[in-house]
Amino acid sequence: MRMSRGILLVISGFAGTGKGTIVSELLDKYDNYALSVSATTRKPRPGEVDGVHYFFRTVDEFQEMIAKDALLEYAEYVGNFYGTPRGYVEQQLALGRDVILEIEMQGALKIKEKFPETLLLFVVPPSAETLKERLQGRGTESKEVIEKRLSRAVEETSYIRQYDYLVINDDLQTCVEELHGIIQSEHFRISRNETFIEKLETQLRKLDKSV
Ligand code: ADP
Ligand code: 5GP
Repeated sequence: MRMSRGILLVISGFAGTGKGTIVSELLDKYDNYALSVSATTRKPRPGEVDGVHYFFRTVDEFQEMIAKDALLEYAEYVGNFYGTPRGYVEQQLALGRDVILEIEMQGALKIKEKFPETLLLFVVPPSAETLKERLQGRGTESKEVIEKRLSRAVEETSYIRQYDYLVINDDLQTCVEELHGIIQSEHFRISRNETFIEKLETQLRKLDKSV
């Protein structure tokens, strides 16, 4: 693991694009990632476990988290609240791990405003028709909720340009490798290596004086 601070990563995309699937592949394949588990007032889907997929909370409990400043950001999405607990993210970044927030766009943009060094990644399906098929194929939402999520996707397209990178989720493994490659390259950005540069500079100055 690197000695430097990890990168805060946001992965967004329309509902049904495959974000959840991609994130679980990244976590399985590589050990430099930590996934932030969000809090939500949405009801669990079959198979979802409290503390693993989400921290499922009542509206009152969620509001208490907001009041205590325990969330880095929060947003309302199709009738429910979703938010990122602060503690885990800060701890994992300090340990040098790249922390993934799988969050929607309002939250993503709030995070970027607060922490400009955040890397915003947007994942899209190869076509609109594929998106509808995936959303229906997942079989976890009613027809009505699917319609709402598809309308939300139309609104969301205007925000894509505020993201840093766009990756197409056609073949899953290709998409996972492309995302991982982008993140790896980010570690080499000059602005992310300021501490190392300063250390080297100090060493060089000392060496220069001693010759
Ligand atoms: P999201 O988290 O973006 O809402 P999911 O990860 O739940 O999306 O994926 C939606 C559905 O699409 C799931 O049934 C998943 O198995 C499927 N899926 C995800 N990625 C691919 C892909 N590259 N090719 C085919 N199906 C996919
Ligand atoms: P779902 O109900 O399908 O699990 O998630 C709905 C949307 O909420 C998705 O776009 C997901 O990325 C987003 N989301 C999940 N957790 C958070 C969070 O902590 N904050 C924000 N702003 N959005 C979130």
